[in-house]
Amino acid sequence: MKRDLMELLACPMCRSEELELIVLAESVEIDEGVIACGGCGRYYPIIDTIPVMLPDQLRDREEDLSFLTRWQRKLPRRVALEGRPHSLGEAGR
Ligand SMILES: [Zn+2]
Repeated sequence: MKRDLMELLACPMCRSEELELIVLAESVEIDEGVIACGGCGRYYPIIDTIPVMLPDQLRDREEDLSFLTRWQRKLPRRVALEGRPHSLGEAGR
């Protein structure tokens, strides 16, 4: 995705526009990353340049967890371990 797109996005769950972009891999566009919502603590992955801005009920838990595992070392703890709706910290709760 292109960085400009951030200006148009809102969180599909809480409608907040207070979104933070965390870039994990970038070439011409952002290839992999996370869009983190400051309103509700959810995160949305960017996979193969596509931001996946889905509401909770349409998310795939296994995909979310495998994405977080893949990028865990580059992600802030609040996303990897505490992000909503699924995170790697769930097992320890
Ligand atoms: Zn939100």
